Amino acid sequence: MPRLISDRPVLRMTSELGQVMAAARAREQAGERILHLERGEPDFDTPPHIVEALSAAARAGETHYPDQRGTLALRQALVEKLARENRIRCEPDDVVLANGGTHALFLAFQALMGEGDEVLVLSPHWMAIPKLVAFAAGASYRTVPAYLDLLERAIDPAGLAARLRASIRPQTRGLYFNTPNNPSGAVLTREELGAIAEVAIERDLWVISDEAYEHLIFDGASHLSIASLPGMAERTLSVFTFSKSYAMTGWRVGYAVSPPALRAVMGPLLAFYTTHGVFPSVQSAARAALTGPQDAVERMRRAYQERRDALLSGLAGVSAIRVPRPRGAFYAFAHVGAALAGRDVWALVEEWLQLGVAVLPGTAFGPEYAEWVRMSLATRGEDVAEAAARLRHHYATVGTR
Ligand code: PMP
Repeated sequence: MPRLISDRPVLRMTSELGQVMAAARAREQAGERILHLERGEPDFDTPPHIVEALSAAARAGETHYPDQRGTLALRQALVEKLARENRIRCEPDDVVLANGGTHALFLAFQALMGEGDEVLVLSPHWMAIPKLVAFAAGASYRTVPAYLDLLERAIDPAGLAARLRASIRPQTRGLYFNTPNNPSGAVLTREELGAIAEVAIERDLWVISDEAYEHLIFDGASHLSIASLPGMAERTLSVFTFSKSYAMTGWRVGYAVSPPALRAVMGPLLAFYTTHGVFPSVQSAARAALTGPQDAVERMRRAYQERRDALLSGLAGVSAIRVPRPRGAFYAFAHVGAALAGRDVWALVEEWLQLGVAVLPGTAFGPEYAEWVRMSLATRGEDVAEAAARLRHHYATVGTR
């Protein structure tokens, strides 16, 4: 019998999310009520005008092979959006539509990373990143802890630059970061982005900038794209998605913006021979999302901010759980060292599941986070508040053992 799967180590990587979801499902099947704070899945429906645009486009026959880069109409709309909102100046040929931000990141790592190349990944990082890097044969990554120290003002921009410089090795070819950050909720400031840009230019690195949560920013702060800083557009691959801003996770539509040097690779090779583009009717709907009313984006942003506030106030005074205040995205990353009392973080995840609260272990977001868990705010607001209440009650009655 032939070998079942190839011996590439990436195919043996595990999914913490899959494990927690399976454990939560088993409990639900046994009749328990589980509050789902493990997954980053907006509980909002896609706004109706976007759904209408999809069905109208499909009825009009937009059902054939697309231009693998994306329809010119959508790429033109994105060029305008990028100029207006992100201050990134580019041509339609520099934009490639992808099947979600995940696929856009896959394309980015494939385009930039090869045998022996290393990418520095600011951490804690989204859990797909190690897999996406490993799919690029021969490439590897190393984490550089950053967001929590920035969020808690434990380092300044110069400290961040120094930490990056100290991490760079001869094989370092690129740097991946994500703002607003999943899982910590950190939102990088102009000065912090400037520090990254300074080091990238000085050491001639590519930058992969993951801006999946660009519209989810709290407390009146704003999102800034690193590609808009002087000297950065030529070395930055910026990744965006419709998933979070418009509650379109199932539609699988995102995009990458890259410098002209990558034109021949991103669309004609990588997009063409991985998915051959995005369903054209979905692209028409994405254009309706971009050009239509934006009130739903603001309504959802406000709801996530309220949930953040409900979680923080619900957990205030619970000394076993310390949550650095998230400034964007829809997660809270909580330090639970006191609650662990020497146990593995998975033991705590299991204990919280018994309370009906599903969360992810911090180790999914980098090896340094064995004393952390991620709680998602992309679940019903009542469930976020109830999860905080259950945890509060638990630690008030049993303490931290
Ligand atoms: N980047 C980050 C940081 C994310 O959290 C996600 C989704 N959870 C993505 C990219 C990709 O999302 P999608 O593939 O749905 O566009």
